Amino acid sequence: MSRRLLLLATGGTIAGQASDPTRLNDYTAGAMAGDALLAAVPQLQNLATISVEQVANVDSAELLFEHWRALVARIRAVFAADAELTGVVITHGTNTLEETAWLLQLLIDDPRPVVLVGAMRPATALSADGPLNLFQAVQVALSPEARGHGVLVVMDGQIHPSRHVGKVATQGVGAFASPGYGPLGCVDDMGVHLPTATGSRQVPFAALALPEQWPQVPIVYGCVEPDPLILQACLNAGAPGLVFTGTGAGQLSAGERSVLQAWAGSRPLMLRANRCGSGPVHHHHEDERLGLLPAGNLSPQKARVLLLLALIAGLSRDDLAELISAAPVTATPIIATPIIATP
Ligand code: ASP
Repeated sequence: MSRRLLLLATGGTIAGQASDPTRLNDYTAGAMAGDALLAAVPQLQNLATISVEQVANVDSAELLFEHWRALVARIRAVFAADAELTGVVITHGTNTLEETAWLLQLLIDDPRPVVLVGAMRPATALSADGPLNLFQAVQVALSPEARGHGVLVVMDGQIHPSRHVGKVATQGVGAFASPGYGPLGCVDDMGVHLPTATGSRQVPFAALALPEQWPQVPIVYGCVEPDPLILQACLNAGAPGLVFTGTGAGQLSAGERSVLQAWAGSRPLMLRANRCGSGPVHHHHEDERLGLLPAGNLSPQKARVLLLLALIAGLSRDDLAELISAAPVTATPIIATPIIATP
């Protein structure tokens, strides 16, 4: 029987069109439908039967929580209803691709591959990277080696775990990396090169129902002589959660610590991340007093995704601390082992 995949298209540069093939930055993202992306790579027909659904067609900076909700609902439903489906591929803008990948990692409980893919050059560009990226994402989604690894990102022949991957450059086809870890594997014309997943993957929010309204969780960024008013404004606005992107290993300035200490209202659920781009944020003796939790080596934007789900699930700070230590969503997995592996 021919293998089957579901392609969920959301837009991005992979579906982008410019007025001229030499234009790499001035183009319209999300200008082509998923069907057209598939039709542009006829070689895919030799690999699998792929059905396409258009979830959105936007630049990923315009992605909304309702798009996330629709993606999660569709993937959960199709996996529940179709035992013969081999996997899911999602085409996505690269700017926020890592956030969607991490969201799905925390919510989708199925060993079958879910693979996100984008492109750095619009579909109309000379040497557009989208077609090969899409072909390789399909290769990965069809491969038995990808099973059990959780949500993966395929870009430029590299296979990255959603836990660590990030867009690390504004230009160039090699803009994705897993800083401090490296890719989980690679894919080329000889096949998919991934270690076999061992152990079971914990999916902390597998049963979580996603509401229509999501909480707003701001990210505050540390710098020299920061204006503590920004942090104060978030507290005054009643933000239920907050990510603080600290300097170095997640440090706050004295002024920012004073704002948190003086705050008499109800404390948001707060994660302390870092702006270095790699490396962990460890526990600090002031964390309890200030109501903070270290984000480990989650990037600020991934810490925010975790907080969003924690808030939707109604977790307290203690619950979140327990979740983080029981299911090491912020811990350092060994390279080439399943993401969120059981300890
Ligand atoms: N602007 C694009 C986006 O949708 C960038 C890209 O896809 O590469 O995120």
